[in-house]
Amino acid sequence: MKIAIIGAGASGLFLANMLYGKYDFTIFNNGKIGRKILASGNGRCNIANNNLDVSKYHNNQLVNKLLVNKDKVFDEFKRLKIYLKEDSEGRLYPISESSLSILNILSKNVIDNIVDIKVTKIDKKNGKYIINNMYSGYDKVIVGVGSISSVVDKDIYKFLDGINVKFNDFKPSLVGFKVKNKIKAISGVRSKCNVSLFNGNKLVHSEDGEVIFKDDGISGICVMNLSSYYAHLNNINKPYIKIDLLNGNKYDNLESVINPKLLEYISKNNINPNDFRLDIIDTYGFENSQVSKGGIDINSLNDDLSIKSDPNMYFMGEVIDVDGICGGYNLFFAFLSAVTVFEGLK
Ligand SMILES: Cc1cc2nc3c(=O)[nH]c(=O)nc-3n(C[C@H](O)[C@H](O)[C@H](O)COP(=O)(O)OP(=O)(O)OC[C@H]3O[C@@H](n4cnc5c(N)ncnc54)[C@H](O)[C@@H]3O)c2cc1C
Repeated sequence: MKIAIIGAGASGLFLANMLYGKYDFTIFNNGKIGRKILASGNGRCNIANNNLDVSKYHNNQLVNKLLVNKDKVFDEFKRLKIYLKEDSEGRLYPISESSLSILNILSKNVIDNIVDIKVTKIDKKNGKYIINNMYSGYDKVIVGVGSISSVVDKDIYKFLDGINVKFNDFKPSLVGFKVKNKIKAISGVRSKCNVSLFNGNKLVHSEDGEVIFKDDGISGICVMNLSSYYAHLNNINKPYIKIDLLNGNKYDNLESVINPKLLEYISKNNINPNDFRLDIIDTYGFENSQVSKGGIDINSLNDDLSIKSDPNMYFMGEVIDVDGICGGYNLFFAFLSAVTVFEGLK
């Protein structure tokens, strides 16, 4: 059996390692391999999480089914000799704390199978796939091309023309928010607090964590997590972030509680420290987002991630309309979906 994998990112490389020595395969990749693996976890590669469950994902009906293969991902880490360590929040990293070490491990055996080609066309003739009118004879095509978050060339889905799948529009997720309020005076301040996203005065989601104030907006892990709920809103109606700088507590003196710059700002502007509201203009966009909501609709897929219209074509990773919050869940989904495809091939 001859297999074409499109994309040498997290899902493509992980799958390739499972195929290595067992199947004849070629990986078609546009440009630098594993670029997002390298960028992940601030270069430390937050690869998975010990608190893994479906609640960490949007569109989690599919994740729920795929989680039967969860242990197989960890078995594959062991087989590849990827040794992990856990931080206080269950996030798993390679012991080296280096994304490069993960990319080196995932690429070393399969590097010779990678060709640097942007796939723009996939045809099928006599039951075999032809890539870009040039590379032919493939029995299966497995697509792991990721999303348009943090990529320069966003015109990467041309090959989907003529393929019968539903593709949901992308929206940036795991990204900071631009706000209307003038907050330049507190740019650079970090504050551990409770943040809540409201849409039309309705609470959407709330989290504790560190907010990072910027010239024109806010960021930080808890804020990025709110953005993933924002990406899933159907009607956006005067959205705002409510920040409780006191985490639900009351103090008779705030000097040792709130960062002095921030305290000066809220005092000057008569802001209630339990209810500091920031009106959302927008997110910081795809360029700054870690993942995208959207992609191949999960209803177009069979349980083995082949498409209903063609059981020899599969999708895996972020190109599927599944996205997780921060904490290693998105890389894990890329690996989990790769394992699911592999199990289906057996
Ligand atoms: C800055 C940043 C930090 C992140 N940190 C984390 C983290 O700590 N933990 C976590 O879980 N997730 C993190 N993520 C998200 C995670 O990296 C992605 O969800 C994951 O890499 C998706 O894997 P994938 O295989 O679906 O796609 P990718 O890893 O994006 O790989 C897709 C590959 O396909 C190639 N390609 C695209 N189109 C074509 C085409 N037409 N023809 C040929 N090749 C093509 C691309 O060049 C790329 O190599 C982060 C993302 C970013 C941007």
